Amino acid sequence: MNAVEYEPVIGLEIHVQLRTRTKMFCGCALSFGDEPNVHTCPVCLGHPGSLPVTNAQAVHYGLMIAMALECTIAPRSIFHRKNYFYPDLPKGYQISQYDIPLGRDGHLGDVRIHRVHLEEDAAKLVHAGSSGRMHTAEASVVDFNRGGTPLVEIVTEPDIRTAEQAGDFLRLLRATLKRTGVSDVNMEEGSLRCDANISIRPVGESNFGTKTELKNMNSFRFIERGIDAEVARQQEILRGGGEVEQETLHYDPATGAISSLRSKEEAHDYRYFPEPDLVPIVPTEEMLERARAELPELPAARAERFERELGLNAETARLLSFRGELGDFFEDALGADGEVEPATLANWVTGDLVARLGDTEPQQSKVEPRALARLVELVSAKTISQSAGKTVLDVLAAEGGDPERIVEERSLGMAGADELEGIVDRALEANPQAVEELRGGKAKAIGAIVGFVMRETKGRADGGEVNRLVREKLQL
Ligand code: ADP
Ligand code: ZN
Ligand code: MG
Repeated sequence: MNAVEYEPVIGLEIHVQLRTRTKMFCGCALSFGDEPNVHTCPVCLGHPGSLPVTNAQAVHYGLMIAMALECTIAPRSIFHRKNYFYPDLPKGYQISQYDIPLGRDGHLGDVRIHRVHLEEDAAKLVHAGSSGRMHTAEASVVDFNRGGTPLVEIVTEPDIRTAEQAGDFLRLLRATLKRTGVSDVNMEEGSLRCDANISIRPVGESNFGTKTELKNMNSFRFIERGIDAEVARQQEILRGGGEVEQETLHYDPATGAISSLRSKEEAHDYRYFPEPDLVPIVPTEEMLERARAELPELPAARAERFERELGLNAETARLLSFRGELGDFFEDALGADGEVEPATLANWVTGDLVARLGDTEPQQSKVEPRALARLVELVSAKTISQSAGKTVLDVLAAEGGDPERIVEERSLGMAGADELEGIVDRALEANPQAVEELRGGKAKAIGAIVGFVMRETKGRADGGEVNRLVREKLQL
């Protein structure tokens, strides 16, 4: 029998911590890294008789996210209690949304969004001792600072087919959420967390296979690797004649091992019921208008505009729009000086500038947008050479300043015709073999001569002009 080819089917569930000042249903401050259990009150500790009040800013951010993902907004959505017992959940239930989420039926890129809803985060369990996993820890302690933090959960349709596509979707989602300003989307700090639902099916089959759920992976690389590992595991099971069991899994990025957290039999029955202590969310025209008005141009649209209007290639357009600050800097530079060609400027920003600044946003650097634009203009006009331009950028990144002054102070201007002629003469004298080869028709030999001139001028010569002079002098 031929080996059956399988196709992965993947749906993602993403939790986003909202960047509000206070928690979802009480006035406690949001915090990260503060002393444990200092941001608590009767509401988020679940004391009897305490009453929750919905955070209006969280609803506003929720609406912005639902709109950014082009969801239909529910005219009236309600909160439910999702009941389960766990030490990180003092009330014995999580307040979430169930049958009527804030938004539904949206999309981001070519992945459909099933729903977007509001909920609260659980507290943080810290497993002390050994491996950090609960069943091997010596003790577990709880930090209630995180309990009650506003979350938006985003659930995709099972439209994703490869680990790479999952990674691409998540990178676009992260850039989109960052640009809207609703979350700091910091994966290490857990403000963006992702679960991946994974199944496989024979190519050509229209029904889905049994899915497993990979829990809480906190880096895009680990998510991609975890999906690949789980797809391989399921393929091995099916090829061996077995069946995939519906379960929740943990992927260990250090070892690549996949282990079971709970099986279908242990699945919770959450006994959802409407939260009686909270009023429904009924967005008014004014609330909707305010959310819409606060949405900036989103990365996907911006990349498209950079390609269409400015003629940037897809990769560069994506780099500039996925790192919004980089795109802002590029547009500021473009606006500062009408003479620069957008694609050339974009290459300087995504190439040489990023190489010098790393993860530091250019706004936090000493390079002014206008200075970079002027530098690119000087290079384009051949007032300075490409290599001198890079030297100028080194200076701009280290000290800031004005490109023309830097060129003048450091004598970085292009070597003049007289100077160049003398140097080319010396280059020909110093490289008799290359001259002979050139005369014999070996065009490549010019490299040695150009190299000599570049060394002599410290890169201040125009390669084309040197070429021309050499050919003229050798009457080639
Ligand atoms: P559950 O009821 O188990 O929570 P849902 O239907 O609510 O499952 O879907 C949860 C997530 O799993 C969604 O992202 C969805 O796209 C995805 N999903 C559903 N069925 C499958 C499947 N067979 N294979 C892969 N992903 C799936
Ligand atoms: Zn509180
Ligand atoms: Mg579900």
